[in-house]
Amino acid sequence: MKTVNIVGAGLGGLVAAINLAREGYRVLVQDREEAIGGSKKYHPSIHSTPLQPEETWEYIGIDLSEHFVRTDQYPAMYYNQRRLKMPAYVDNLAVYNVERGSRPTSIDNRLFALAVKEGVEFEFKKELGPDSLKALAPGSIVATGLYREMYQDMGIASAPVYGVMALAKKEAGKAGGAIYMGGFSVDYAYSAWMNNLIYVLLFSRRPIKDREVEGFKKVIKKVEGFSSDKWLRVDPGLFPRQCGLFWEDKILAGTLAGMIEPFWGYGVVGALISGKIAALAVTDPKKAEAEFARFNGGFARKLARKEKMDAMPFRKQFLRLAILKARFDCWRRPQLKNAAKDPVVWFR
Ligand SMILES: Cc1cc2nc3c(=O)[nH]c(=O)nc-3n(C[C@H](O)[C@H](O)[C@H](O)COP(=O)(O)OP(=O)(O)OC[C@H]3O[C@@H](n4cnc5c(N)ncnc54)[C@H](O)[C@@H]3O)c2cc1C
Repeated sequence: MKTVNIVGAGLGGLVAAINLAREGYRVLVQDREEAIGGSKKYHPSIHSTPLQPEETWEYIGIDLSEHFVRTDQYPAMYYNQRRLKMPAYVDNLAVYNVERGSRPTSIDNRLFALAVKEGVEFEFKKELGPDSLKALAPGSIVATGLYREMYQDMGIASAPVYGVMALAKKEAGKAGGAIYMGGFSVDYAYSAWMNNLIYVLLFSRRPIKDREVEGFKKVIKKVEGFSSDKWLRVDPGLFPRQCGLFWEDKILAGTLAGMIEPFWGYGVVGALISGKIAALAVTDPKKAEAEFARFNGGFARKLARKEKMDAMPFRKQFLRLAILKARFDCWRRPQLKNAAKDPVVWFR
């Protein structure tokens, strides 16, 4: 029985493992943490993402509908404390929340249980470094997420991401959240809740100054009444600036392969899809390469647009103009109101 080694027991690695085990491979997954659920510095956490559920479950061969909970409404969007009046079609959009980490309710745990059931073997406390990377068998899959070391060891173009987060108990509500833009980030902050937890992350592709953190804390206190004495500065890792399925004779999966939406930074669904593509790359590299290209066509263009926007001196005014234009388009063409112009569409 042929063995496939996978490094990284996150979303991409686990989906690849489950698919390969189902095809009859012996699969060994290694991860540097002590147990499933990634780093305890970031998790438990709640992630939010647009999602095309049926298409995604069918493609990856795993139904995760119990874990992705549709939010009651599209996250309310704020610029500082002001609620933005978005174009009408935004109300038609759907965002789903999903729990990450090691709790029984997390998606990581669910995928882990499925993998074990399919016969996948796991080794924890195994860290891949520059030497062990070279020694990995050809055809091994590397799926180490945003964690910075592998980008550096492999020479994959990337940019730093900075973060400040807080986690608290929250009893009410099935699933929901909000998005906050403002002078405190070139990206944004979000709140997301489900499974009795509320998670808040301020992230930015520029260093976040203390006064910006304080500014954001005031905003979320005012808007949501959220406050915490446990805000933590975190290092979410590196954001890929290129996409690629192969590195030398190894296969890449997840965010390390660049399967993250470059504008908003939504990486959960891309990582799941890429796990399936990485598994296909073991058996049929050409077909996998074609699939990878199909999903990542717009990456370079979108990233360039985002980076250009981040460098603009009048970002706030630009954002207001873009929203105004979208609202005007809806007024001029009322049929647009019924459309759903999702910011991230993996399946067309
Ligand atoms: C704080 C934070 C918040 C986020 N919020 C959202 C969100 O709201 N919505 C969204 O769509 N995306 C979000 N993302 C992005 C999303 O989490 C990632 O894109 C996605 O998890 C990537 O999946 P992956 O399989 O590539 O890696 P992961 O799921 O991160 O798994 C990587 C695994 O590799 C292991 N590992 C790392 N380095 C090594 C090594 N050297 N040796 C061995 N094992 C290693 C880790 O322990 C981990 O288990 C967020 C990311 C972070 C960090």
